[in-house]
Amino acid sequence: MRPWKLAETNYGSVKQQQYEVAVLPFGATEPHNLHLPYSIDTIEGNLIGEKICEAAHDRGAKVVLLPTVPYGTQTNQMEFPFAMNLNPSTLGRVIADLVESLVRTGIRKVLLLNSHGGNEFKSVLRELYGRTEAHLFLCNWYTIFDDVYDEIFEKRDDHAGEMETSIALAYCPELVGRNPDGTLTADEAETAETRFEAVNRGWVGITRPWHLLTTNAGAADPHAATAEKGRRLMEVLIERLAGFLVELSESEVDERFPY
Ligand SMILES: [Zn+2]
Repeated sequence: MRPWKLAETNYGSVKQQQYEVAVLPFGATEPHNLHLPYSIDTIEGNLIGEKICEAAHDRGAKVVLLPTVPYGTQTNQMEFPFAMNLNPSTLGRVIADLVESLVRTGIRKVLLLNSHGGNEFKSVLRELYGRTEAHLFLCNWYTIFDDVYDEIFEKRDDHAGEMETSIALAYCPELVGRNPDGTLTADEAETAETRFEAVNRGWVGITRPWHLLTTNAGAADPHAATAEKGRRLMEVLIERLAGFLVELSESEVDERFPY
C-alpha cells in the first residue's frame, strides 16, 4: 500500500497521515490514431501522477494522489465513435465539487494535472478564485518540456504522435497496436490545413473538427517513437513536478501565498 495514493490506501491509514497537497489528474476517453488505447490520456494522468507523487513523498512531501477523472472535453471529436464528451461547463462543475470535498478534508493546496489538450481549465481557476479556500494550481504536463523537446524527440507531437507513443511504449507496451514486423499499426497522421492562412499560422484560433483535420484521429507522426524516449521524458517530468510538489507541501498558506 502506498500512503500517497488514495485509491490504494484506507481510512485507517488516512487517519494517521497529514496531507498538505492533493494532485487531481484529468484524462480523456477518445481515439488516438489506430494504435494507442482510448484511455491513453487517462493512463498518462495516472502514471505521471504516480511518478511525481512517489518522488515527492520520498522527499518528504505530504502529498496525496487522487483517482484520475477518465473523461474530458471532446466536442470537436464527436464524429469518431466513443469520443466520450464532458462539456467544459460540466467539467468546471466537477472540479468545483471535488475541490470543495478537498477543502472539507482540510486540504488547501490542489494541483490539477491535465493530460488532454481539449481540457482547458484556466477559466475554472479564474472562476473559483476567491470563492474557495483552496489554492488551485494547473499543470498541462505536455506543455512543460518545450526547451528539451528536440533533444529527446525527432518530430513534434500534437495528438497520438511520437511523444505520446513513446510514453505508451515505455509504460504500457502491451496496449500499443503493432504489426507482425513490429511497426506501429498507426497511419502517417497527416493533417489537413484550413482554407485560411491566419488560422493555419495560429493568428486566429478555432476548435479543430478532428474528422476534417485527421485521417484516423492521429494528429502527429508516431513512427519514430521508442520506449527509451518515453523514459527520458518521464525523468524530466519527475524532476520538474516532484520538486514543485515538495516546495508546495512545505509552503505555508499565509496572506501573501503564493508570493
Ligand atoms: Zn492524448
